[in-house]
Amino acid sequence: MSGADLLIIGGGPAGCAAAITARQSGLNVILIERQSFPRHRPGESLHPGIQPLFRQLGIEDKILAEAPLRYKGQWTEQGDNTTFQAFGEDDNGSWQGFQIPREQLDLCLIEQARLLGVDIRQPCRALEIVRDSGKVTGLSTTQGEILAQCIIDASGGRHWLAKQLNTGLTYLSRPLYARYGYVSINQASDCIEQPRFKVLTNEWQWLAQISERTIHWTRLFFDENTFIEDAKPTAPSDANKHTRAQRKINAPPTELAHLPGLGGIKGADVSWRKTKVPAGPGYYIVGDAAFVLDPTSSHGVLKALMSGIYAANLVAQVYKQKISDSVAAEIYDNWLTQWLEGDVNKLKAFYQNTLDVQSSD
Ligand SMILES: Cc1cc2nc3c(=O)[nH]c(=O)nc-3n(C[C@H](O)[C@H](O)[C@H](O)COP(=O)(O)OP(=O)(O)OC[C@H]3O[C@@H](n4cnc5c(N)ncnc54)[C@H](O)[C@@H]3O)c2cc1C
Repeated sequence: MSGADLLIIGGGPAGCAAAITARQSGLNVILIERQSFPRHRPGESLHPGIQPLFRQLGIEDKILAEAPLRYKGQWTEQGDNTTFQAFGEDDNGSWQGFQIPREQLDLCLIEQARLLGVDIRQPCRALEIVRDSGKVTGLSTTQGEILAQCIIDASGGRHWLAKQLNTGLTYLSRPLYARYGYVSINQASDCIEQPRFKVLTNEWQWLAQISERTIHWTRLFFDENTFIEDAKPTAPSDANKHTRAQRKINAPPTELAHLPGLGGIKGADVSWRKTKVPAGPGYYIVGDAAFVLDPTSSHGVLKALMSGIYAANLVAQVYKQKISDSVAAEIYDNWLTQWLEGDVNKLKAFYQNTLDVQSSD
């Protein structure tokens, strides 16, 4: 059996950001990650707002030295309209996002955590929680039991801790299932300088060049029943009906069809959902484990980093006895809820507008 001030489940952006931040505050941290790196995850197009977070986490110079592709905004194509939305600019020039394969970003983050003294156990899987008088006090893992003052669940969209605690999820959309994949670039004319977001009838497509030789694509189907207000959690049969059409997508967008595929077509459950209790006695839930929206929200990785940093700062304040456990949990819950509500409102407006345009055509 081993122990730490903070035990983190998951070595994606949320878990690594939490680990680095907690170490910067002087806590003893153990992070467990069930997969060996490099491993694949989607999420390569990163908003410019991520750069100050890279700086804070101490990886900005390394990321910039690896010369990732940068982009100034995105093209949106809908019907006969094609418009370019730039991120903006200031006295230093245009704001630019990053295109970084996740194998590269996640490796950089976990190496930084290791460098700062985080005890990384990998591959190591969380199996069950250990509780004492209702408080989460540790985990049983594939490398034995680990006890900690606090646990952060950064295990992603399968919501490991919420399932263990049986606290449940709230669904904010009907089932949504994205299909995505990668194609290889053959010649200069295949390159996509700025990403393209194409809105078709009941479908959108995202195309982005994420490295010198690779383009990422995502496709997602939706209809007027998908974004009903206060969607109730759906029964499995309902889910099957709604996702059947979406699962049938087995090809990239037409303009990429001539390019060789890389690694097969993948799928992801991107139904809008949130964990009902994101923080409680001895635990915080961050990143996709806390809430998932479909990729139109465009900043899953940014949210993962920010929620990891935010939760770890609260853990440090509780540890230094500046605030109580319950106050910290409430602060986190309010912060996360505000973020989620802002994003959901923007996404609902986007889909409502799109469906209105389509029904008037
Ligand atoms: C098709 C698609 C396209 C997307 N595109 C973008 C994009 O362009 N830009 C963007 O910002 N976001 C994008 N996203 C969202 C982005 O992928 C996620 O928001 C982001 O990965 C969340 O990071 P995370 O650290 O919370 O979780 P993850 O990245 O999922 O990391 C969780 C980690 O936990 C580990 N883990 C899980 N269970 C256990 C366990 N029991 N024990 C130990 N370890 C465990 C996993 O192995 C994994 O490494 C996209 C998502 C999809 C589906």
